[in-house]
Amino acid sequence: MAFQEPPATAGRALPTFSLDLEAVFEHMPVGLTVYDVSPDFRCVRHNARFLSMVGLALQERGSVVGVTLRELFDDRSYRAIRTIFEQVLASRSPYVTNEYAAVMTPGAAPRYYQWSLTPLIDERGAVSSLLAAGIELTDRYRAEAAVQASEAQLRLIADSLPVLISYVDREGRYRFNNRAYELWFGHSRDEITGRTMREVLGDEAYAVLRPHVEAALAGRAASFEAVAPYRDGGTRAIEATYVPDVATGEVRGFAVLVSDITARTRAAAAQQLLLETSALLESSLDYDTTLARVAHLVVPSHADFCIMYLVEEGAVQRVAVAHADPAKEVFLRQIEERYPLDLNGPGPVASVLRGGQPVRGEVDPELLTLLAKDNEHLALLQAIGSRSYVIGPMRAGNRTFGALMIGSAESKRRYDDDDLALVVELARRAAMAIENARLYRMAQEAIRLRDVFFSVAAHELKTPLTALFGHVQLLQRRTARDGTLGERDRRTVEVVVAQAQRMSAMVSGLLDIARLEQGQLSLERAPLDLRALVRRVVEEIQPTLDRHTLLLTLAPEPLVVDGDALRLEQVVHNLLSNAAKYSPMGGAVNVRVDRIGGRACVTVRDEGIGIPQAALPHLFQRFYRATNVSEQVFGGMGVGLYVVHEIVTLHGGSVTVESVEGRGSTFTICLPLLAEGLG
Ligand code: ADP
Repeated sequence: MAFQEPPATAGRALPTFSLDLEAVFEHMPVGLTVYDVSPDFRCVRHNARFLSMVGLALQERGSVVGVTLRELFDDRSYRAIRTIFEQVLASRSPYVTNEYAAVMTPGAAPRYYQWSLTPLIDERGAVSSLLAAGIELTDRYRAEAAVQASEAQLRLIADSLPVLISYVDREGRYRFNNRAYELWFGHSRDEITGRTMREVLGDEAYAVLRPHVEAALAGRAASFEAVAPYRDGGTRAIEATYVPDVATGEVRGFAVLVSDITARTRAAAAQQLLLETSALLESSLDYDTTLARVAHLVVPSHADFCIMYLVEEGAVQRVAVAHADPAKEVFLRQIEERYPLDLNGPGPVASVLRGGQPVRGEVDPELLTLLAKDNEHLALLQAIGSRSYVIGPMRAGNRTFGALMIGSAESKRRYDDDDLALVVELARRAAMAIENARLYRMAQEAIRLRDVFFSVAAHELKTPLTALFGHVQLLQRRTARDGTLGERDRRTVEVVVAQAQRMSAMVSGLLDIARLEQGQLSLERAPLDLRALVRRVVEEIQPTLDRHTLLLTLAPEPLVVDGDALRLEQVVHNLLSNAAKYSPMGGAVNVRVDRIGGRACVTVRDEGIGIPQAALPHLFQRFYRATNVSEQVFGGMGVGLYVVHEIVTLHGGSVTVESVEGRGSTFTICLPLLAEGLG
């Protein structure tokens, strides 16, 4: 096989060393084929490498000598290649193909080649054959395609994640940014990738990130929370992780993962605010100061300023004004005082107060002009620089009695629906607290009026009753002495005395309650021996009892307390009367006066009906009566024990009760003993 140099190199001298061209042809790692110039371009010779490049069916033949160009390729590839063959034949100059795909076995997957086609010129100067030299690039193509596919997959994943993902090189330059960056900054990523973090984020934000960037570049992973600039000019809360790229042993850069935790942070902050507000509101019924403190809770975390309005008798009152800047707070207060809000006037606050619906909006020059009452007012409103506002109604039932407004100014914050929901909830809680305080005040007032009524009624009843009681007792004694009444009339007078006495005791009880409620029950204290006092009361009561025996046990030594003798007698009297009253079958009533620790104690034990367990904790409440006492059998108002408790407490003592229903009760009062010496 003689090789003819192509015309371009024909003038050069041939190499002088001998060359085994046959061996070169056969073993070249390049597919070599010689085609004849017959119309079919038939293969006349090829090397082993070429055979490995042809379709499988032809390969199996072991040789493709004699095979036409047409048979080597599928239709499309054949037409393209044939055009090149014809062109080389006509131009007599070699042709080098670009990399291209060809299908050598019809129906098979395309394979990639790069070819040169060189015309071989014979002695007569005619093209005798064509030498095709080709290399196959399929493997490289496949590898590249696989890399591209996996890159595309990674990019798809990165782009579909709601997290900012980037790669930053040693110079702090973004080398890759996922699509979330475009949404975050509002720029195409081409404008971000290639620029430094500092350029993209700005000096201020970068200053915060810098220590973490340095840590990542020193090979340490960093994870932190920060605030980052956002496309709207505001900021968002982020959680960032930097993962150093140490694949090759040195740090080439780091991967950045950033998630937006604004919603989470805001929800937590809102929850915290609501908790603190509720705690504040619950802490006091004095809502004027409480509301002012609530307003100050809202700034600056959620607002630059906060104002609360209440409608009182048709007029709008500002009950709280807070501003993040104390100087501006004074200023805001002055404007609010100078230009009071008109319930029927224009603007969002008035309309919330009238309609009871929350609103959210942006402040624009038209709104300020609408609100301003004169030019000076307008200038003042402009000076506040408010931007965005949210107003929530304070309501009780269908009545709107106030509004809570938060506004932004310096922070340039723009409120959204989450803020609206928060303000509505804040206003609702404030309204509830105010309403509770109002109801509480009303209840207090009703109680005061009732007590005044009690006291007046009892006083008015007391005077005629005392006269009645005195006179009927007189009548009883006189007729008894003179023996002027028959048995029936004597009994009638007895009943009148007993009932007058009962009524007198009830009125006294009511008077005591009224005095206690108004804090008017004062003690006239003096040292007294409790034993003597109890003995006196026992001796006084015993004759009035026909079915009960009072058994008195006294401590051997005097038990001196600093007490009001009359009031303490009333206490002992009450306990003894109850013991007799609630043991209708009669029996013994044990009365003891002992020293227990440093105290003097009186114990009254009966064997009567006892007290149900459930009633015990309530026994000393006024007007309380246990369920086992029926009105018909045991008359009473539930006042006695309440008065006992109050008197004993005023003495610095205590009263306790033990009882088993059906088995009797034991009441014990204990009073502090006066220091030795004094006794
Ligand atoms: P009143 O006796 O007028 O009902 P008190 O205040 O003296 O009022 O007593 C309150 C209630 O305590 C009584 O209604 C009764 O249920 C119960 N109670 C008081 N003392 C006794 C007692 N010694 N035994 C059983 N129950 C008693």
